[in-house]
Amino acid sequence: MVDTIKASDLTGGCLCGAIRYRCSGEPDSMGLCQCNRCQRQSGSSFLIAVVYTRAAVAFEQGELFSYVAQDDEGATLTRHFCGACGSPIMITLDRYPEIRSIMGGSVDDKSRLKPTFSLWCSTSQPWLSLPVRIQQHSAYPDGLIA
Ligand SMILES: [Zn+2]
Ligand SMILES: [Zn+2]
Repeated sequence: MVDTIKASDLTGGCLCGAIRYRCSGEPDSMGLCQCNRCQRQSGSSFLIAVVYTRAAVAFEQGELFSYVAQDDEGATLTRHFCGACGSPIMITLDRYPEIRSIMGGSVDDKSRLKPTFSLWCSTSQPWLSLPVRIQQHSAYPDGLIA
């Protein structure tokens, strides 16, 4: 089967170019996470999660390395990254196996990034204030996926 490439597809990859991916259509949701783990892994103040269903995400090039860890509630999540340059590319969650969280910094067209909420604002860096249009949660409420 040959997939049709559409303008609405979201493409991206890692810093060194080894990893390339394509996501079909618009994402299901887009949010930020300011938890300490995401700050540590991103090396920044938050990460951007662009959420797609598993079937919408295709890796076209390269091989992802992964780091499996548990959060404070004991939920297992896996952080996937480029083994050559270390760029974070994707998070997968054991409790939501049908979704893929693509890291916003790896997206080619940053104008497509429109986060609507943030998790873990309780541990945000003190200098950072988000625009009011981004819904802010102190922790990780049930029902949200990022
Ligand atoms: Zn790379
Ligand atoms: Zn986080």
